Amino acid sequence: MKTLHERILEDGAALDKNILKVDSFLNHQVDPHLMYEIGTYFKDYFKKRGITKIFTIESSGISPAVMTAMQMNLPMVILKKQASKILNADVYQTTVYSFTKGANYELTLSPKYIKEEDCILIIDDFLANGEAALGAARLVEESGAKVGGIGIVIEKSFQPGRQSLEDKGYEVYSLARIAKLERNSIEFLK
Ligand code: 5GP
Repeated sequence: MKTLHERILEDGAALDKNILKVDSFLNHQVDPHLMYEIGTYFKDYFKKRGITKIFTIESSGISPAVMTAMQMNLPMVILKKQASKILNADVYQTTVYSFTKGANYELTLSPKYIKEEDCILIIDDFLANGEAALGAARLVEESGAKVGGIGIVIEKSFQPGRQSLEDKGYEVYSLARIAKLERNSIEFLK
């Protein structure tokens, strides 16, 4: 996605070899026009997969996910993060290790918003080690529904997330794939 690549080069900042900051258009301030275009790309790619709902992980996945849901005319569900396990039989819950916070959190989903017949498209802002997407996929499968694909805005291809997801049989489609980050330099996969 050319506009996303250009925007990452213009406004993204590599904090170090591992973390890309995109606060000015995706994670803090949000560019709705860019999110709208991201939604059209995900729709075009996943439109023939029989998707019935879009899932995302709070909070940075919400803006690309809601635009994708609007483009596909489907509902969007936000998987909630809780700091600690609340023993509650009424929700699906799984532990996820956070790449950016270096700590575990509990990802939760109400059974009200998923059915066994659902085919879920998971959308997130970043793919690093794949923990967040794998956690979302576990919740989907715990309910008996299936994962129809995983859409990522920015994949850091030098980290193992894609491989972990593909090893489990999930299809991953990323709009920008980064090969290398250095302080003040961002290289895309050729
Ligand atoms: P993973 O679970 O794949 O290891 O990491 C994905 C999650 O960590 C994303 O939901 C995102 O919020 C956060 N994340 C991972 N890498 C980055 C990064 O380079 N920059 C930012 N802003 N967030 C990241």
